[in-house]
Amino acid sequence: MLFLNTSSCIFNCLRKQTDSEDADELVGLSEAKAKSVPPSIGQKVRKFKHGFRPSGRNKHGKPHMTHKIIKKGNNSKTSFISLEMAEARRKKLQELVKRNDNSTCAECCKKNPEWGSYNIGVFICTSCAGFHRNLGSHISKVKSIILDNWDADQVNTMEEVGNLKAKAKYEVHMPACYRRPCPTDPDVLKEQFVRAKYEREEFIHVDKQVYTTGFMEGYLWKRGKEDGRFQQRKFVLSESDGTLKYYVKESHKEPKAKIEISKLNMTFCPKKVGNPNGAQLTYVRDGSTRNIFVYSSSGSAIVDWYMAIRSVKLNKLRIAYPGTGELELSQFLTRDFLKEGWMFKTGPRSSDAYKWRWFTLDDRKLMYLEDPLDPYPKGEIFLGYHADGFAVKKGVPPGMKEQGFGFTLRTRDRIFLFGVQKDDDRIEWMKVLQSVIERPLTPQDNSMAANLVRKRSTIRHFIY
Ligand SMILES: [Zn+2]
Repeated sequence: MLFLNTSSCIFNCLRKQTDSEDADELVGLSEAKAKSVPPSIGQKVRKFKHGFRPSGRNKHGKPHMTHKIIKKGNNSKTSFISLEMAEARRKKLQELVKRNDNSTCAECCKKNPEWGSYNIGVFICTSCAGFHRNLGSHISKVKSIILDNWDADQVNTMEEVGNLKAKAKYEVHMPACYRRPCPTDPDVLKEQFVRAKYEREEFIHVDKQVYTTGFMEGYLWKRGKEDGRFQQRKFVLSESDGTLKYYVKESHKEPKAKIEISKLNMTFCPKKVGNPNGAQLTYVRDGSTRNIFVYSSSGSAIVDWYMAIRSVKLNKLRIAYPGTGELELSQFLTRDFLKEGWMFKTGPRSSDAYKWRWFTLDDRKLMYLEDPLDPYPKGEIFLGYHADGFAVKKGVPPGMKEQGFGFTLRTRDRIFLFGVQKDDDRIEWMKVLQSVIERPLTPQDNSMAANLVRKRSTIRHFIY
């Protein structure tokens, strides 16, 4: 506790210091370089003939005298000393960022961060620097640690705080159900993590964690099963019921669907849905996977739904596996798809033509659809263990027609021929499918396989 109090004291002092400072007149230059973050009106940003240039550098990227140095006079000795000091501070930052705790982004853990928030005291990657800047400079002030000039006080903040102490303060009560973003995650997850952490301070104030209460009610835009149009629908998540329900009309007493949380998965898919806050809910109904596509009008709302579903799942797992740690259990809350994309696929007969299908690899299930947003896949292929006869091979068997860059998937019952348009894509598909069939089956996989075998005689499109 002593550590926390001390660090919190340092934070408060530092924040007061930096807040009262006049913003460096050149800060906006480097901020403007943060990914997809144009400088806003009114910011002190100098536009050079050749575009935005970081402070302290000329158009060739070499250090030049800043305004501050020039203001001190034309004494070349003074200027030289100032330049030397600026370089020394930049060098110091380079040393600090190499330290273990600072060598990955404080938000998404990307290696070798190139930016810093000099009032918060964290090292961050280019993408997260953009999200920090979106918070506004009253919350976070960002600078490049490579290109910008830093004041001695700002460097001291980075040294005294750093990623570890900042985490101890801003993530002190981060719940186990909350998914920390990784570099490849969709922007909505990364940005909302940064906003939750510094803007809403959700991980400091537990009462702000609306997603851990076991109940959530609200509206999401849901894609219609028949007409494909997105309409607002009321969703209700209840931990006591163990269900997620949605209603077509507010006045309806009976929900249109009631989904068991234990069978529900949620993943973000902004590109597929065509909305930055787009997500996909999936569950198995009558032996077939059902896809529901939704989005919300705000990033925080869709992330709250996602964390709320994870929270309910975690609480269920805690009860089912009392001896298992939260960190381990949190690995089993939601799954991202291993790979998705278009491929050619043939039918079971050698005379069948290749058809262009959308494929989704969800753990051990390879599903194919006519349209990526179809409510049900046309078929689902269970991927077993390689020792049981499952294999992936480049090319197609002799005498069979190859479409584009072809490869073959062998299951117990059937050989599937696929084709893609680029060799790189074929390599990626083969690699990911191979990694799945090399993984021994878990007890859960076995029960799923048994279920599929049982259903095979009645549900034609399940193949094992
Ligand atoms: Zn990052």
